[in-house]
Amino acid sequence: MITAQYFIANWKMNVPALPVWVRDVSQAMLGREAQVVLCPPFTRLSAAQMVLTDTGMALGAQDCHAQENGAYTGDVSALMLRQVGCTHVILGHSERRAQHHETDAMVRAKVACALAHGLTPILCIGESLEVRESGDAEKMVTQQLLACMPDMDDDDEIIIAYEPIWAIGTGKTPGCDEIEAMHAAIKKQLHKRAPLVYGGSVNIGNAADILALPSVDGVLVGGASLDAAQFATIINAGK
Ligand code: PEP
Repeated sequence: MITAQYFIANWKMNVPALPVWVRDVSQAMLGREAQVVLCPPFTRLSAAQMVLTDTGMALGAQDCHAQENGAYTGDVSALMLRQVGCTHVILGHSERRAQHHETDAMVRAKVACALAHGLTPILCIGESLEVRESGDAEKMVTQQLLACMPDMDDDDEIIIAYEPIWAIGTGKTPGCDEIEAMHAAIKKQLHKRAPLVYGGSVNIGNAADILALPSVDGVLVGGASLDAAQFATIINAGK
């Protein structure tokens, strides 16, 4: 059974005040069943690992290569992420799919490699506005999920993040009924219970409504996670 709600911070900028952020977010976690995963840029992973010690927060990266080792200049492997203290890694984010031409097959290989190294993948799936408007969103997203999921052992852990592309960084969100419907469709495809989080313009104004949904096990937050006070408010809006 999943009891703690997940609060995943996807920092797409270099936030300077890491210790202050960790202090403020730690306070928000007091007395709550909140699992916070901080995913800063690669360049901040070492520094984050040091300040996260004994906070109960987990450390995640925003991508990894599909191979453990090799001549891949500029890429970072799952093994390297483990060595720097990561326990989680975001994979298949729509920005990487669009900007780095990552296919479902590539994402699946990355998920498999992350699992092989004991990392918990945070697998992002979601539809474009065009697909949403065509009425095929559930079909497309569930197909994407199946295409990105490798065979898994019983003790492998994975988090699924439903992130409609049109909601990321836009201030737009699906209706609560649309999130529930999509999450129900996703859950039908999962052979094992995996936390299912929502991402896309989660902020202090909508977090309580989204986190109250029965199918929502947490949130993946981009922009609003950069500000410790806002992220703390989002944690406090949890169940
Ligand atoms: C994201 O980066 O995955 C994201 C959900 O960003 P934002 O919260 O800014 O929409």
